Parts: sequence; C-alpha cells; structure tokens
Amino acid sequence: MSFRIGYGYDVHQLAEGEDLVIGGVVVPHEKGSVGHSDADVLLHVICDALLGALALGDIGTHFPDTDPAYKGIDSKILLRDTWAMVEEKGYVLSNVDCTVCLQRPKLKPHVSAMRSCVADILGVDVDQVGIKATTTEKLGFVGLEQGVSAHAVVLLERQA
Ligand code: MG
Repeated sequence: MSFRIGYGYDVHQLAEGEDLVIGGVVVPHEKGSVGHSDADVLLHVICDALLGALALGDIGTHFPDTDPAYKGIDSKILLRDTWAMVEEKGYVLSNVDCTVCLQRPKLKPHVSAMRSCVADILGVDVDQVGIKATTTEKLGFVGLEQGVSAHAVVLLERQA
C-alpha cells in the first residue's frame, strides 16, 4: 500500500458586491469573497491538498490567476480538473478533511450541501468528505470579517 498525504491553505478577502461561494454553495451574505475565479476558498484548499499530496505544485501553477481563461471560473471545474490529475496518477481518495474559518454567517446550515458537492465532483461517498466551520472568536482578519480562510488535508491511496 502506498499512501500520500496533502495539505492546503487559502485566504480570500471579503467585500460587498461579491458572491460568497464556499464548497460550491452560494451562501447568502452581505459580503462575498474576492478573487480571479469565483473565489471558492474551500474548493481551492481541496485542490491544493490534492496537488500537494502528489507533489504536483499548487493551484496557481495549474490555473494561473493571470490567465483570462480562469476569470470568474466556477471552482468546481478547477476541482474536477485537479481530481483528473490525481486519477491519472493512479490514486484514490481515502478521505478529505477541511475547516473553513469565517466569523459570519454560520455555515452549519450549508455544510451538508458542501459535502455533497465535493463528494460528487470526486466521485466518493459523503462520509469521505469532512467539512467543519469555525469562527476565530472575532480575532484577526477572519474575526474582523475582512476575509475567509480554509484548511484541508487529504489522504490518497495508490490503487493496487
Ligand atoms: Mg484561492
């Protein structure tokens, strides 16, 4: 058996007039995340964790924010394409575990839809996708509602 572990971290600014897309779900809020793509911080960290597990660089290497092709792109497409690279290398997902750090709004009502979205893209069961949310107790850029961050770890197993 051959296992590979990967980790991803990402931050996006929050601003009025943007959609707050997290885990492929549009979360109703007066502010949204700013970025070249749809700025989905959760799907971005999963991409980075998958790429990191196989030492394939990072999301910026494969989908550069200087490329107009990725302007406003749905990050579900980025995750789908990243996952194709993992499958190409002969690996399957054991599990992915994520934490989103956001002061407001509460993400709990949306977590189930986020898990289903990620599981669908990766072609795995929802019980292989862990998504948690936390505030930062009003501390730092997350607590001041200036931004959203996320962390993800993945475990991949090489297919026999
Ligand atoms: Mg990002």
